[in-house]
Amino acid sequence: MSKVKYYYDSETLSYKKIERKKRRTFKFISLFLIAAALFSFLFVFIGGQYFESPKEKALKRELSNLELQFDLLNKKMEEAEMVLANIEDRDNAIYRLYFEANPIPEEQRKAGFGGVNRYKRLEGYDNSQLIVNSNKRIDILLKRIVVQSKSLDEIAILAEEKEKLLLAIPAIQPVSNEDLTRMASGYGMRSDPFTKLRKMHWGMDFTAPRGTPIYASGDGVVVRADNNSAGYGNHIRIDHGYGYTSLYAHMFKFVAQKNQKVKRGDLIGFVGSTGRSQAPHVHYEIFKDGQRINPMNFYYGSLSPEEFNKLLRHASVENQSLD
Ligand SMILES: [Zn+2]
Repeated sequence: MSKVKYYYDSETLSYKKIERKKRRTFKFISLFLIAAALFSFLFVFIGGQYFESPKEKALKRELSNLELQFDLLNKKMEEAEMVLANIEDRDNAIYRLYFEANPIPEEQRKAGFGGVNRYKRLEGYDNSQLIVNSNKRIDILLKRIVVQSKSLDEIAILAEEKEKLLLAIPAIQPVSNEDLTRMASGYGMRSDPFTKLRKMHWGMDFTAPRGTPIYASGDGVVVRADNNSAGYGNHIRIDHGYGYTSLYAHMFKFVAQKNQKVKRGDLIGFVGSTGRSQAPHVHYEIFKDGQRINPMNFYYGSLSPEEFNKLLRHASVENQSLD
């Protein structure tokens, strides 16, 4: 109930009712409400610039924690990159070099990704740069790991091949040192035992008693075991692959037969003096791609330095060969 208010009219000398105008009241209230709304809006808006709500505080803390974690991840990535760079260096400078593979160029190892922008979905945020950079970095890291892994696969194959090659190369003497009477004659110009003329002696002569074992000097396949080559008498040829063949002449008896697979050190026959020979010995030759080469260069792995020097000394004497 609103009170009825009066006022004293001095002209009429009487009390009169105060009549409130409804429209004015309404206007007044509206104005008040608008002012209040405006004021609270300004309060919230301006106040919000200087004061944070608890929720905002929590979000900010979370964001700075995420940024910190990103920094830590980037540091760890840097460590991973360093370890990988070290492996790549060793790969190029040692492993690939050792197995005669070309080094993988830096640009190929560290190439990024061209073409379409793979990181579009990460753009348009305040911290896009941080996230895009980290993504790029880890993508390159992953690619480098794949390249490195492929390189190691290649090296594993090359190592296996190299092992086969090392086993195939005719690298030991055909007669063991204990059985050897002497290294009678080496590769080079020698006096012919029959004509006494100087001519090329294409192999090495190892003197040993008749019946002394002769061994295959490397892994391979016997391609000939016969006496159908002039002068060699009973002889064996072993194809070692990789362009190498070894020949053992003047045998007394064969043990290995044609087409037989042999390993280095396998017994293939016995010393004799068949063919054009002056005394029991093995005439031993090595072919590389069809050309006869000096067998002296192949004993590096199987003889001690003293034995090698002794053999070299004997092989270098320009004496008479046994043929
Ligand atoms: Zn000879």
